[in-house]
Amino acid sequence: MRTIKFLLIAGSLLATLSSVHGADKSLTFAKPDLNAAKTLRERGLADNTAWRLVESLTTEVGPRSAGSPGDAAAVAWAKREMQSLGFANVRTMDVTVPHWVRGDAQFAVLSPWPQPMPVLALGGSVGTGAEGIEAEAVMVRDVAALNALPAGAVKDHIVFFTNRMERTQDGSGYGKAVGVRVAGPSAAAALGALGVVIRSISTSDDRFPHTGALRYRDDAPRIPAFALSNPDADALERQFASGKPVRLRLWSTSRDLPPARSANVIGELPGTDRAAEIVLLGGHLDSWDPGVGAIDNGAGVAITMGALHLIQQAGLKPRRTIRVVLFANEEFGTSGSRAYLAENQAEADRHVLGFESDFGAGPVWRLSSRVNPAQLPVVDQIFRALAPLKLARGGNEAGGGADLDGLAKLGMPVLSPDLDGTKYFDVHHTANDTLAQIDPVALRQSVTAYAISAWLGAQYPGTWEKVATPKAPRR
Ligand SMILES: [Zn+2]
Repeated sequence: MRTIKFLLIAGSLLATLSSVHGADKSLTFAKPDLNAAKTLRERGLADNTAWRLVESLTTEVGPRSAGSPGDAAAVAWAKREMQSLGFANVRTMDVTVPHWVRGDAQFAVLSPWPQPMPVLALGGSVGTGAEGIEAEAVMVRDVAALNALPAGAVKDHIVFFTNRMERTQDGSGYGKAVGVRVAGPSAAAALGALGVVIRSISTSDDRFPHTGALRYRDDAPRIPAFALSNPDADALERQFASGKPVRLRLWSTSRDLPPARSANVIGELPGTDRAAEIVLLGGHLDSWDPGVGAIDNGAGVAITMGALHLIQQAGLKPRRTIRVVLFANEEFGTSGSRAYLAENQAEADRHVLGFESDFGAGPVWRLSSRVNPAQLPVVDQIFRALAPLKLARGGNEAGGGADLDGLAKLGMPVLSPDLDGTKYFDVHHTANDTLAQIDPVALRQSVTAYAISAWLGAQYPGTWEKVATPKAPRR
């Protein structure tokens, strides 16, 4: 009562002081809860549920881009699996999704030295029409370089973007490189280009091109856009280095169909005395179509479901409700998380802590967060419980992922067991995203890290404070 009066009078600044002041009590986890974390660690490192889930999803469903038959099959799969794992309140939430169809694509250099190359249309690209597009190409590094060209330089040409993505453990190279894929096509179209080819946003030197969403602007014509693998982009650069005009031929049957129905799939482990507060474990269920969506994001589906299952199987009863949400269509417009937020607008504040798993199959190498700074000591305690899993302590600038964006912008604290992204962009959004890319040992370690941090997040004896600072735009 005294605390309530104190808060009412003094506002959020003093609320922060209050939680620091109460450090001896509200910031300390109960001994049995820390012991339970140890139990989760022992059981998690030996539990193969997550592997079984991702094996099943990639084998029995496979590719599942928004609106496709695989998407509907994935929703049915997830509901069935959550039920058979014994999750509570298993349900689906209808989501309308865009329905883009890749069709077929072909790419060829016509001159100076003719040869075909494997290519993928970027997600959302229009097709070329039956005749395809033939034109001379202009090579530029990125959108800034394109915009610096003399007027008319790319009119009636094909633009080839060459910038190469940098390999990093935290995935930051992707954020720096992906602008070409998202904004390059419209930037080129606004200058009169007929088509776009990009170097894949990829760190691999194999010959699998990478797809992913583009975003057309309303004020530019919609032109077709494709990606070449790194070695083919290198080869095309060598053709340009000849100094001779480079002519290309593009062809694809990509097209939009009317919007389709998909769904978010939700399951829970209900809380006890603080059941109204939700600890959210989110990941997206959809995938791009060239592969079977093993690392993106079958692994994330398996990690969130596996973590909840681990806590439940250990016989633990969390104080707060732990909720798994498998979001529809993250890849082509985050339809599922936006629908979830719209439907839960009145209850957004009940989401007191969020986790997202959408960065591969691990291992977890670092614990980052985005919490009210006064509560960093709580994250430190969770970190100590995770330490035997061999993590580093990260900073407080985690954003969660794309599907947590809306709730994070409303101030929901985020805990981020960061998955190692060193090799993630070797296979992300390519035909090479298969089960063979997942290491079962790393996957078990990841599930264990998520389970322990979600469990302790649900048991925290204090109140998870909102994060006041606006969330930076996501990478
Ligand atoms: Zn993803």
